[in-house]
Amino acid sequence: NADVAMYQAKASGRGNYQFFTADMNTRASERLVLETSMRRGLVQNEFVLYFQPQASLEDGRIVGAEALIRWQHPEQGMIPPGKFIPVAEESRLIVPLGSWVLEEACRHAASWVAKGLPPLTVAVNLSPMQFSQPGLVQQVRDCLERYGLPPERLELEVTESVVMQDVDQVAATLDAFNALGVKLSIDDFGTGYSSLSYLKRFAFDKLKVDQSFVRDLSDDPNDTAIVLAIIGLGKTLGMSVLAEGVETQAQLKFLREAETDSIQGFLFSRPVPEPDFVELVRSQARLPLM
Ligand code: C2E
Ligand code: MG
Ligand code: MG
Ligand code: MG
Repeated sequence: NADVAMYQAKASGRGNYQFFTADMNTRASERLVLETSMRRGLVQNEFVLYFQPQASLEDGRIVGAEALIRWQHPEQGMIPPGKFIPVAEESRLIVPLGSWVLEEACRHAASWVAKGLPPLTVAVNLSPMQFSQPGLVQQVRDCLERYGLPPERLELEVTESVVMQDVDQVAATLDAFNALGVKLSIDDFGTGYSSLSYLKRFAFDKLKVDQSFVRDLSDDPNDTAIVLAIIGLGKTLGMSVLAEGVETQAQLKFLREAETDSIQGFLFSRPVPEPDFVELVRSQARLPLM
């Protein structure tokens, strides 16, 4: 594995680079280029947040948005997060990048309050590396204060891989967030390997059913069973349940009958630039519930 080789080569000093295969070298240097241009991008303000509305299945109204990062690259155009977040995590660049996301999300959400929009939450993705930074809770607290954002308007999304880190440290951080009053969600649920007892132990407010289960809902009986089980699990543990990746009316109908609380998906809206999101809310756009 190139990552390991790179690490070992670095760890044991210079001369060891000759052990790389040509392919490993190419990959490593590609990543170095990406890392360097991400650093430049951060300084030159090339990143932008898009917002994907989340709609309540009670009345179809927008209840919040997930902030999703995009990279407006000067030559390559809009780059999706899947292309750079993994490298950002490996290079620790996710820490300054994640701080930027948090700032920007809080700033926008506070402006929604100031504009008199109905109460909305903004959801921010936290990567495992960010989550294990000792100053994270203080950083979130500072950010809320700086923009005057009520804590309950901010939702932090973590994946199961975060929960699988050092249990005591994770518990302490999640408790501190709970005390602060921000909301906590478990993202991409069902794709990781977390033990169910963790779910009980850590007080998450929301469970986000991963889109891979939602995708095949209508025709795959196994996915149907899994989604029903996940929704039931979330409800039993007192969480609200959101389904990701809802693209069809058939999926919506199923999820609604299964008493999912809210959804996010292309059926309602793709992630959009912030002004477009505000416009959607202002125009009282609603998810059509039949
Ligand atoms: P995620 O947190 O699970 O975000 C949901 C992803 O699903 C988004 O992809 C969104 O555009 C996509 N999506 C939403 N509805 C649909 C749908 O109906 N159909 C399909 N096919 N896709 C849908 P995106 O924006 O490309 O982000 C991908 C992942 O990158 C995110 O998955 C998250 O893990 C990561 N990411 C995005 N922004 C950030 C960020 O600011 N910080 C960190 N750490 N990770 C981020
Ligand atoms: Mg997410
Ligand atoms: Mg997700
Ligand atoms: Mg994800």
